[in-house]
Amino acid sequence: EELISQIAAGEVVERPASVVRELLDNALDAGATQVTVRLSAGGVRLIAVEDDGSGIAQDELAVALRRHATSKISSLSDLETVATMGFRGEALAAIASVSELSLLSRPAAQASAFVLDARSGELRPAARSTGTTVEVKELFFSTPARRKFLKADATELAHCLESVRRHALARPDVGFAVWHDGKLVEQWRASFVPGQGDARDALARRLSDVLGADFVAQSVALQHRGGSVTVTGHAGLPDAARARADHQYCYVNGRFVRDKVISHAARSAYEDVLHGHKQPVYVLYLEIDPARVDVNVHPTKIELRFRDSREVHQAVRHAVENALATPRA
Ligand code: ADP
Ligand code: MG
Repeated sequence: EELISQIAAGEVVERPASVVRELLDNALDAGATQVTVRLSAGGVRLIAVEDDGSGIAQDELAVALRRHATSKISSLSDLETVATMGFRGEALAAIASVSELSLLSRPAAQASAFVLDARSGELRPAARSTGTTVEVKELFFSTPARRKFLKADATELAHCLESVRRHALARPDVGFAVWHDGKLVEQWRASFVPGQGDARDALARRLSDVLGADFVAQSVALQHRGGSVTVTGHAGLPDAARARADHQYCYVNGRFVRDKVISHAARSAYEDVLHGHKQPVYVLYLEIDPARVDVNVHPTKIELRFRDSREVHQAVRHAVENALATPRA
């Protein structure tokens, strides 16, 4: 069981940033409105993710650490339409097999919090308000061959920050804070409550916080509907690229993805309108009927397959072309 989890860990956990990604997915799935990430030594020594989400009941803590334990799918058909980030039910088990993991949690209805140490199985009462803190210490301590592949702390920290950025750009309604070795390195406040306020303003504020005010000033907001695909976001003008080359963020139904169809469509639009602009910067959010997307084709959940990639390509291309071609003051 331990070995199987360690093998699974090889797919899911490549470096501290992968742990950050999985723990943030879980925090957001739990409905968190504020997430704090604490790192030490680039995340190798410590990754702690603290949320104010729904929490895990005392008698569910051990279950959450079991392989293929997921509270997020009740039937196989759910796999088709699953809306949550994590749904394989193996992230915590995999991470616990290559680190010293503890789960500290308190659901709102429970009088006190409990902390479970994954390795010893020890469960004891603890103090905290509603929500969950997952602590991951000494990543790969028992698998020196893997630990050896980790880069300098600064590099691992940069990857961890990129993981947080990807989540933060998807959720302007959630506040994020990142600490490293006791110093606050990033803090992005939640800028709106869903259903209240202007989502466009909230997005612009989050983009400004995360990618810089220059990016927002030098980009065009876009909104386009083509077939069953809705595309929103910001397309950076050539000047934006100077500050932030290679920053291309794409989301499908709230999930960060790297996808050739989307990036090709965006690149084509830049080539058409700006004639060979090579390193565009953009942030694109696609909303599409979940039944028209296959996710879960890769353990990191970053890749996906569209049922109708032509439709997606056209929607993205038009969205970006329209934005870039719009005359500006
Ligand atoms: P998955 O997210 O795919 O279900 P994980 O191994 O990541 O699998 O997590 C296992 C289970 O632990 C989740 O299904 C959820 O019930 C619980 N869990 C993990 N993290 C949190 C959290 N931050 N808040 C509430 N529940 C959590
Ligand atoms: Mg998960």
